[in-house]
Amino acid sequence: AALSKINEVDVKGGWKVSEPVPYAALAKTFSIIEATTKRLEKNALLTSLLLLVIQRSTKKDHTSLLQTVYLCINRLSPDYIGIELGIGESLLIKAIAESTGRSLAVVKADLKKEGDLGLVALNSKNSQKTLYKPKPLTIPFVFSKLKEIALSTGHSSQAKKVGIITKLLAACQNFEAKYIVRSLEGKLRIGNAERSVLVALAHAAVLAEKESSGKKWSNEKLAVRLEEGADILKSIYSELPSYDEVIPALLEHGIDGLREHCKLRPGVPLKPMLAKPTKAIGEVLDRFENKRFTCEYKYDGERAQIHKLEDGTLRVFSRNSEDMSKKYPDLVEQIPHCIKDSTKSFVLDSEAVAIDRTTGRLLPFQELSRRKRKDVKVEDIQVRVCLFTFDLLYLNGESLLHNSLNERRKLLREHFQPVDREFQFAKSSESEATEDIQAFLEESVRDGCEGLMVKMLDTDASYYEPSRRSVNWLKLKKDYLAGVGDSLDLVVIGAFYGKGKRTNVYGAFLLACYDGDSEEFQSICKVATGLSDEALQTHYEMLKPLEIQNPRGDVKIGGAKADVWLEPQVVWEVLTADLSLSPIYTAAQGLVGDRGISLRFPRFIRVRDDKNAEDATGPEQIAEMYERQALAQSTGRKKKGDV
Ligand code: ATP
Repeated sequence: AALSKINEVDVKGGWKVSEPVPYAALAKTFSIIEATTKRLEKNALLTSLLLLVIQRSTKKDHTSLLQTVYLCINRLSPDYIGIELGIGESLLIKAIAESTGRSLAVVKADLKKEGDLGLVALNSKNSQKTLYKPKPLTIPFVFSKLKEIALSTGHSSQAKKVGIITKLLAACQNFEAKYIVRSLEGKLRIGNAERSVLVALAHAAVLAEKESSGKKWSNEKLAVRLEEGADILKSIYSELPSYDEVIPALLEHGIDGLREHCKLRPGVPLKPMLAKPTKAIGEVLDRFENKRFTCEYKYDGERAQIHKLEDGTLRVFSRNSEDMSKKYPDLVEQIPHCIKDSTKSFVLDSEAVAIDRTTGRLLPFQELSRRKRKDVKVEDIQVRVCLFTFDLLYLNGESLLHNSLNERRKLLREHFQPVDREFQFAKSSESEATEDIQAFLEESVRDGCEGLMVKMLDTDASYYEPSRRSVNWLKLKKDYLAGVGDSLDLVVIGAFYGKGKRTNVYGAFLLACYDGDSEEFQSICKVATGLSDEALQTHYEMLKPLEIQNPRGDVKIGGAKADVWLEPQVVWEVLTADLSLSPIYTAAQGLVGDRGISLRFPRFIRVRDDKNAEDATGPEQIAEMYERQALAQSTGRKKKGDV
């Protein structure tokens, strides 16, 4: 059914091979995608557009496809280059007013009514009488203007940005203004997460291959190839997350040629492997029964992926693929001390942990978060770091992702050397006896760690799985053992003014989880615990500039209320006593019945500035936590014999 839709889409456009893609084709596709809630249909619509772009591209000209894909995911470059949009509301209001002749007051009133600047831009355009038809916008033109806006800095940049946006808006027709403004805001809100764009791209490439083969494919063959194509592209992209690299290779070598031409390479950070939470040592032993595993300290710092390029350059990347080399110039200076001569290029997976250089004691994450993020000079650094390395992913020209952890670890120890208080291998133990694991866990906590990471050691189950929260890595935190449960990373979407001496700051906050599939934030709880007066002041200063008049269109608030609404940007780690079903909040609604899930007695732990709003805990994880808790409660009750 989804496939038949592909041919129905009216975005054929009048453009020919090698001609720039009209922006109208993209805007039209976005508007039809936005109007449907069916995932398969969304995929088919996007596939249809990307297929048209591929068919109009030559093997050597990848720009059209690259720029179309970037606009679909609302980015302008790979994450690690970090050219970002996200233009503030007031600037956009100004540009909309200037280009359409509406007054600022009218635009603001419209925003209050609509809650979406994209719609306001569209309304403003529609209310304007145009004397002549502007020249049609093309994707290369829009892309280059968005890039110019994102790259302009300095004190006169605001006026320059307003100028470019005003001209862009003046040239818009039909739905174009709506999506240009949303792109500028940094949020398309058409319910198409990056994962779906990747799948649509793979499907379009497979369909292009089918059409150019000139042969008839059976439905079974097509279905198999579509699934295979999506799997290949997803796995390649998690290893080399750069469309700049993947799209040219896709056009030139087809989907089957990707594995040979796109491989992990120093300089391009791969998406890190993540772990599943476990509640007890018994659960670890059950999951890893009859398999060899290793326990490592789970250090409490910041994830750091260290790359050494062939030309000798060293780079430090965050969990989010952000280049942190400037935040950690001390690490860049320290790392060469631990590299043996035979080590020319590599990718290390590690945790950077704050350390007291005098005593060698590890310090909690909070110490690390006191470090400046920009313009850091080694001589000014107060909080020093030690790097604890737990994996080697690439060595001297070879990817090691498909080597067992045992082999990767052996190579790590052969090619690097520990340096006291600067560089260490993560402390590990291979004993599988419950009492030894318990003792190692307690030791890790005494040494200032969060608990243990338990990892499969041999066979293909121990391969490194980029971007996966894998069952082959389990985390065993001291908090879980205390029965407190896992923490969640939630986005602050609203705030309440405080009472008494706290009336000048926010005293409580409304939080949300993030659903990557529907691209929406879902309200989950109100938090007011764990926040000192000093912390409330800091949060107020950080969050105040994010105030907006209405909740954003992609925030599903349900029955939740707030004194002020906030741009969903800041991520907090929150601990909870347990989870309960709620008629008010919308988190995970539909996953465990009609009601949403809420947190009981949530407590603020820390700001997670290494996470974007889109990295917040998802509804599936929340539903999983709820179900695990329900299961534990019913087993507990059964044990006590009161059911
Ligand atoms: P959290 O860090 O709050 O547990 P998360 O979502 O950032 O959650 P998890 O998959 O839950 O990530 O835990 C893995 C994190 O633990 C890694 O991202 C890394 O920063 C850190 N870590 C510390 N020590 C290790 C280790 N020995 N092996 C792997 N990861 C480690």
